[in-house]
Amino acid sequence: MRIVLIGAPGGGKGTQAKLLVEKYGIPQISTGDLLREAVAAGTALGLQAKQAMNAGQLVSDDIVLGMIRERLSSPDTDKGFILDGFPRNIPQSEALDSMLEDLGRPLQLGLLIDVEFNILMQRLTGRRTCGSCGQMFNVYTSPPRIDGVCDKCGGELTHRADDNEETIGNRLRVYEAQTAPLVEYYRRQGKLRTVQGTGEIEGIFGQIERILNSLPSKEPAIEVAAEEKPAEKKVVKKKAAAKKKAASKKKAAKKKTAKKSASKKKTSKKKVAKKPASKKKAAKKKVAKKKVARKKVAKKKAAVAGWGLEL
Ligand code: AMP
Repeated sequence: MRIVLIGAPGGGKGTQAKLLVEKYGIPQISTGDLLREAVAAGTALGLQAKQAMNAGQLVSDDIVLGMIRERLSSPDTDKGFILDGFPRNIPQSEALDSMLEDLGRPLQLGLLIDVEFNILMQRLTGRRTCGSCGQMFNVYTSPPRIDGVCDKCGGELTHRADDNEETIGNRLRVYEAQTAPLVEYYRRQGKLRTVQGTGEIEGIFGQIERILNSLPSKEPAIEVAAEEKPAEKKVVKKKAAAKKKAASKKKAAKKKTAKKSASKKKTSKKKVAKKPASKKKAAKKKVAKKKVARKKVAKKKAAVAGWGLEL
């Protein structure tokens, strides 16, 4: 399953991505998380990215594409992945398509989580994230049981540096100008599906599951390979059946010829048997003829004798 989650900041991409990870066991790849890790670790890449992030602007495509290329080469993405917060503009989408094409694993779904602008504002300002496990809460809509403490692991909840009103305004403007065109991009590819991102988290996840279940194929390459086997077997079976048929035909043909030759032999024997019978008849006839001839000669002799003549 290879999915891109599209949606404005605060739209619930991260929350739904975590549920997908739990259900399908494929990794969530969030460029925002990777960049925040780099900033926290103080790497050269993190230092480069920090300024743009704090201003609510996009980090350069070169940095982000380098991170994604490396992450997609990891074997845990073989079964699939959920891209969250990437791509963020058309050049990134195009680069992703060619990267996945090279890997022979094209994207299957661009999933838009659609949320109204004023709700986004409330979600972003109220958002709190667990520093240990990444679980998300919202002080207005889904607060933790104990203020500032993660329900899941007891970790400390933090307020993101860029979740302040000024930066949020910039991020939403950047979304409208640069990221929203991806909706049309994936629609043109026939890969776009949309869910309404308001209401209960489980209800939204239910909509997503229905979409995933309705996809023509979750993993075409594997399913096609699995389908090929029975088809191959069928061909083999057909060939075997044809061989059997041909063999039984041959047998039948042999039997026929055997019968024919047997009957021919019989008839020829009969013919052979008939021949001596006719010969016998002919011989008998000859003997009879000779007898008649001899009788005639005797008669003639007697007559000649009776007439006093020499023969
Ligand atoms: P996010 O956590 O996805 O809201 O990202 C936080 C910030 O990281 C964004 O406001 C950007 O400054 C930066 N960022 C995350 N993903 C990207 C991306 N794909 N391209 C450029 N900048 C990004």
